[in-house]
Amino acid sequence: MARAGIELNGVRYRRPSRPVVVVCIDGGDPAYFDRGVRDGVVPNVARFMKTGFGAVADGDVPSFTCPNNMSITTGSPPAVHGISGNFYLDRATGEAVVMTGPDLLRSHTIMAEFSRHGARVVSVTAKDKLRRQLGKDMDLAGGSVNFSSECAEQCTLEEHGIENVLEFVGMPLPDIYSPELSLFVLEAGIRLLERRQPDLLYLSLTDYIQHKYAPGEAEADRYYRNMDAMFGRLDALGAAVALTADHGMTDKSNPDGSPKVIWLQDVLDARFGKGACTVVCPITDRFVAHHGALGGFVRVYCRASLDPADVMKVARAIPGVEAVCDRATAAERFELPLDREGDVVVISRADTCIGASEKDHDLSGLRGHRLRTHGGISEAKVPFILNRPLRAEYAARAAAGPLRSYQIFDFAINGVE
Ligand SMILES: [Zn+2]
Repeated sequence: MARAGIELNGVRYRRPSRPVVVVCIDGGDPAYFDRGVRDGVVPNVARFMKTGFGAVADGDVPSFTCPNNMSITTGSPPAVHGISGNFYLDRATGEAVVMTGPDLLRSHTIMAEFSRHGARVVSVTAKDKLRRQLGKDMDLAGGSVNFSSECAEQCTLEEHGIENVLEFVGMPLPDIYSPELSLFVLEAGIRLLERRQPDLLYLSLTDYIQHKYAPGEAEADRYYRNMDAMFGRLDALGAAVALTADHGMTDKSNPDGSPKVIWLQDVLDARFGKGACTVVCPITDRFVAHHGALGGFVRVYCRASLDPADVMKVARAIPGVEAVCDRATAAERFELPLDREGDVVVISRADTCIGASEKDHDLSGLRGHRLRTHGGISEAKVPFILNRPLRAEYAARAAAGPLRSYQIFDFAINGVE
């Protein structure tokens, strides 16, 4: 009996004939795999790239976690799914609105659609903030599962589709700032694959290591070695395994190790006066110790008295700025939801980040570490790796490009033999 597939955002996904695992390696800049393959740290990934498929794809800008996780899992850009940052500014009230919950998501996820069509789906994330968004409208009645390693000890059958997760996974509850938070996600995926025969798994990690350690550093190597062994186990279980990332990561520090920051709110306040505009850093969340809320992409909201064109002129003249766009141009160029866009978007170069006002950023968590962060165009390149060769039609599509990270489910489900 042929089992039903789904259609979502213009793409048809067949019902997988073998389990499909998509892993989002948070902050998994392609440089880590480049270095890891060269140094023999990731032998399974090296083998996938040789006998399966390996390329670098374009993720979405802003190259942040939530927008790209939702792009990957809806197979569409933010203009369709609506999530363009961790929060935006409501123009009517001037209030910051959190965008990481399920309410503002404008599309189902591929996992939710499959779960509603009788497939057994698994979604496991490192941080709980993503869990509800990824699991929006997921039907857990048929054995599907949705939980985070952060809150793994709180799982109930009713809300997560699974209980006693620590025992099931065989690992203690990991610390929120640890590589184990991600390794727990992968181990959970492996055990679920072994014991519950899911059709589709989405495993989304956290970028704690990538924010702290560059490719080739011992801690990064250890993390990648551990991940690679788990990718090998997923492969050995017969799954189609697809690896991508939500965004890359670059070093944005001065030679002395201090962060190389443009304090944009301070620059604009000095030029236009306090209160004329508000700089929003949409990377901000409650887990800021490893990046101090500094990223490569900010939005400026102007009061009626201030012309966005004047802000753009000032921003363009700041050293380290790569791109400045007005609202309509940003929405069109980066496929972002216009109604949630700022008046001006400012993006920094790879070696520089942008903050709001210096006094409002707590950089104490960065002490002793160079700042590595993301958000701009320079961190939007991500790996796109499959453990099986592509069918001819998909090989042709990949060769013609541009390859987008939000095509990874399409390629993993429809594109491999
Ligand atoms: Zn991320």
